[in-house]
Amino acid sequence: MKAYSSARDEYSGTNAILLDANENPFESEVNRYPDPYQRRLKEKISEIKKVPPSQIFLGNGSDEAIDLILRIFCEPGVDNIVSIDPSYGMYQVAADIHNINVIKAPLKSDFSLQADEVIKCADSHTKIIMLCSPNNPSGNLLESAKIEQIISQFHGIVVLDEAYIDFAQAESFIHRLDKYPNLIVLQTFSKAWGMAGVRLGLAYASEEIIRLFNKVKPPYNINQLTQDFVFKKLNQLEVFEAELKEVVKERDRLSQALDQLEITEHVYPSDSNFLLVRFRQAERIFNNLYEQKIILRDRSRVRYGKDCLRITVGTRHENDKLLEALKNEEKSIIYR
Ligand SMILES: *Cc1c(COP(=O)(O)O)cnc(C)c1O
Repeated sequence: MKAYSSARDEYSGTNAILLDANENPFESEVNRYPDPYQRRLKEKISEIKKVPPSQIFLGNGSDEAIDLILRIFCEPGVDNIVSIDPSYGMYQVAADIHNINVIKAPLKSDFSLQADEVIKCADSHTKIIMLCSPNNPSGNLLESAKIEQIISQFHGIVVLDEAYIDFAQAESFIHRLDKYPNLIVLQTFSKAWGMAGVRLGLAYASEEIIRLFNKVKPPYNINQLTQDFVFKKLNQLEVFEAELKEVVKERDRLSQALDQLEITEHVYPSDSNFLLVRFRQAERIFNNLYEQKIILRDRSRVRYGKDCLRITVGTRHENDKLLEALKNEEKSIIYR
C-alpha cells in the first residue's frame, strides 16, 4: 500500500512561499495545514519521556491508536485478538467495528494477571494481545514479570495500555521497547495530564511499527490547536506534578474513608486515579447519588464486578461531598 503524500510531506522547512496546498494565504494561527508528523511536539515529548521521536505516534486520543492497530495487524472476519477480562470497553467496541473477534482471558478474581491463561487463549489467528496496566475498571497494576512473560512467549503484537501509569509506583514499559520489538505501549494526555478535551493519545513502539502507523493514519490527524496547546502544557511540568501528587493523596484518603463505611464491602487497591468499590446495595446507592447529581460509574455487570461502583478521585471538596452523601446513605440503609 502506498501512503497519501500530503503537501506538508513534501516541504517541511520554514519561510517558504507556500503555494502548494490550496490554503488561504492570510496568516492566522490556523490557516496552514498542521505538520502531519507533529515534529516539534514529538521532540518535546521525547525530551520528557526519553524515547526517540521516531518511536512515537500521536493519535486523536488513544482511541485512534487502538483503531489503527486493529486495522494494521488484523484481517477482518479472519483474525482475532485476546483481551484480559475485565478491561477497558473500547477494545471490544473497536474490534466489533472491524469485525474482529475478541477472545477474553479472565483475570483472577483479585484482578491479577494469569499469564499462562492469556497465552493459552491465543490461537493461530490471534494477532494481538491487549493488556492494560493499571487496568480499568479494576485499578490495579499487572505484575510486570507476567507482562514480560506474555511479550516474550507470544509471537504477535502485545499492546500494553498505560493510560493510568502516571498514578502508579511503577516504571513504564516504554523503556523496554528495544528489548521487545513486538510491544506497543499506549499512553494518553487524557488522565494525569488533564487534557481529555484536546484528544491526544500516544503509542510508543519500534520504528518499524511507527512507520506503519504513519502510513495508515489520516494525514493531518492532530490539529494545530492541539499541537500548540499540548506543547505549551509540556512546559509547565510543575502544574502536572502538583496535580498528580494531590490526586494520589486524595485517592489514598478516599480509599481509607470508604473502607470505614458500614455500607462498603470492599475497596480494591488502586494504582490509578479511581477506586473500584463493592457496596451493600450498590444499585440503590448509585441511584440515590445520581439524584443528588453525584455521578459514579456502575461496573456491576463486568466480570467479578457484582455490586461494584467505580469512583473517580475528584478534588478534596468533591470527595468530601461524596463521603457526606455516602454517610447519609449509610444511615438510611443500616439504621433504618
Ligand atoms: C481513559 C482511557 C484511555 C484514554 O483514551 P483517550 O482516547 O486517550 O482519551 C485509554 N485506555 C484506558 C484503559 C482508559 O481508561
